Amino acid sequence: MTQAIIVHGGAGAWKLKEGKLDEAIAACEEAAAAGRKLLLEGGSSLDAVESAVCILEDCPVLDAGRGSYLNRRGEVEMDAIIMDGRTLSLGAVGAVQRVRHPISLARRVLLESGHNFLVAHGAEAFADQINFPRCDVSELLVGEELERFLALQENPDYDLETLFSGEGNMGTVGAVALDAEGNVAAATSTGGTRLKLPGRIGDSPLVGSGAYADNWHGGASATGYGEDLMKIVISKSVCDYIASGLSAQLACHVAVQLLTERVDGRGGVIAVDARGRIGHAHNTAAMPVAWAVDDGAVHSAR
Ligand code: ASP
Repeated sequence: MTQAIIVHGGAGAWKLKEGKLDEAIAACEEAAAAGRKLLLEGGSSLDAVESAVCILEDCPVLDAGRGSYLNRRGEVEMDAIIMDGRTLSLGAVGAVQRVRHPISLARRVLLESGHNFLVAHGAEAFADQINFPRCDVSELLVGEELERFLALQENPDYDLETLFSGEGNMGTVGAVALDAEGNVAAATSTGGTRLKLPGRIGDSPLVGSGAYADNWHGGASATGYGEDLMKIVISKSVCDYIASGLSAQLACHVAVQLLTERVDGRGGVIAVDARGRIGHAHNTAAMPVAWAVDDGAVHSAR
C-alpha cells in the first residue's frame, strides 16, 4: 500500500521575505523526510504527522511553537489539532500558553482527556495534570517577535500598529499522511494571526477547518486568514471534493477557488487522498510545501 506525507509552512506574503521562505522550505523538507522515515519504518500516520509538525514547530521562521506571533497583549497563544482518519477521533487545543509543542498536547487530548477540544487555562491545567512539559515564554519567542515582546515589557503603552508594522501573517504549519495500513491523519499548529485579540481562536484547531482526516477519502490541513477559512470549513470541503471523485490536487484547487470566490479569503491547503495522491494549492504569494511518496525523493514547492 502507498505511503505518503505532505507538509506546509503557511500560506502568506512570503515573497517579501525571500530568505525566510528558503528557511521555511528547508524545514518543510526536513519535516517531510522525518515523517516519511517513520512511515517506512512502519510508524502510523498519526506518528508521522505529529513528528513532522514538531519539527516545524521548532523552526523559528514559522508561526507555530517556537516563532509564534504575539497577540495584542504581547502574549503567545497557540492553537493546534490532530485528527485520526481511522476513527475520526480528534484532539485540539486553543489559546494555550507556555507549551513548546502544542501538537503533542493536542494528541494527548485525543488519547487521554475524554474530550475533543480544550482551551486556555483548562488545556494548560490538563497539561499539568498529565505532566506534559511546559516551557518559559522565552523559549517560544525569537527574532523580531522577541524584540517586540521586550519593547512591550519596557513600555506597555507602545503603539502596537507601529511596533508591528510592515509584515503580514504567514507560517502556520501542518501535515497530512497516509500509512501502510491505509490510515490517514492530519495535523495543524499555529501561533495564530499577529496582533490578534487575546482569546481569539482561528480556524486552525477547528475540526474541518484547520484539518480533517477520514480513511474513506483522505485528509487535509489548511492555512491562511482563519476568519475566512472557517466560513467554508475548507479542510472538510477538500475531503468532500475527494469523496465526489476529484483527485487530491484538484480538490485543493477547487477548495481554494471556493475560498476566493465565496468569501474573498486568502490561504492555502494541502491534502493526501486515500490512494496516496498528493495535493496542494494556495492563492497567496507563496506557501512552502514538501512531500514524499513511498521511498521516492522529497519534493518541495513554494
Ligand atoms: N490560519 C491561521 C489563523 O488564522 C493563520 C495562518 O494560517 O497563517 O490563526
